[in-house]
Amino acid sequence: MGAMEKTGKDVRAGAVCGAPRTGWDLHCHTVFSDGKASPAQMLGQARALPDLTGVAITDHDSTAGWPQAQQAARATGVPLVRGAEITSDWKNRTSVHLLAWLFDPSEPTLAGLFARTRAERVERTRRMVEAISHDYPITWEDVLAQAGTAGLTTIGRPHIADALVAAGVVRTRSEAFATIVSGSSKYYLPVRSPEVTEVIAAVKAAGGVIGIAHAASPTRNAVILTDDDIAFFASRGLDALEVWHRENTAEGRARLLRLADRLGLLVTGGSDWHGTDGKPNRLGENLTADDVVEQIEERGAIAIVR
Ligand SMILES: [Zn+2]
Ligand SMILES: [Zn+2]
Repeated sequence: MGAMEKTGKDVRAGAVCGAPRTGWDLHCHTVFSDGKASPAQMLGQARALPDLTGVAITDHDSTAGWPQAQQAARATGVPLVRGAEITSDWKNRTSVHLLAWLFDPSEPTLAGLFARTRAERVERTRRMVEAISHDYPITWEDVLAQAGTAGLTTIGRPHIADALVAAGVVRTRSEAFATIVSGSSKYYLPVRSPEVTEVIAAVKAAGGVIGIAHAASPTRNAVILTDDDIAFFASRGLDALEVWHRENTAEGRARLLRLADRLGLLVTGGSDWHGTDGKPNRLGENLTADDVVEQIEERGAIAIVR
């Protein structure tokens, strides 16, 4: 399939070996969660990338960016897959990020699950800010001001980090994540997430297609899911594994590919783009093959916006 061919113009720094050279970026964040760019900016950038067939909007636990993204897809002519990245918990051992695409957002079980997650996250963030504000000059209002779309964004630690940067307490978001808002900080509070199986069931009930994000990333997972874990999720309706992600290790990608083959799962790729600031991830750096997206669309409850 020519996936390994080198072309002079390929400068995708985070592209991983073996990933498709053309196709869809199925993992992107906007200001509607912790990204820095609007949906319009994302679609605008996507239009300028010749190897990109289309993109997915997958903000954390939210579909609030869908209307703006749809509008931008029509304006730019870049096809759009509507989705979300959903945080779940596996046996209190590790959190698992699930990518869901083309589900019906009005389905009550899934809509309720999103609402509950957001409410719990806001409450937890508020309590962290309360504790931090005793030692550093930030307020809840400062943190809210860092959320690009107040009330619609899934508010969380990135926004506390940005408020600490704005207050001059730390220089960068990463510095805040390494110190005051880190998982081992005294201010840290865990957030309850729904079980993996509950999320799979809710997404399936909403007619969506669901995959595990960056399952072989040692930095993104407290514990790496085993083959048996993933086989169990497949038996519950899991559709896909995100193999092509910059943080999956080479051995991990090989393992996921073998598993996908054995379990009949789709193989996807995504950049985990968060906008131009902050993270190095480039839009379209890892892609999902066109024929895989065709299968996702066949399975999904809603159409790709074209
Ligand atoms: Zn993730
Ligand atoms: Zn992500």
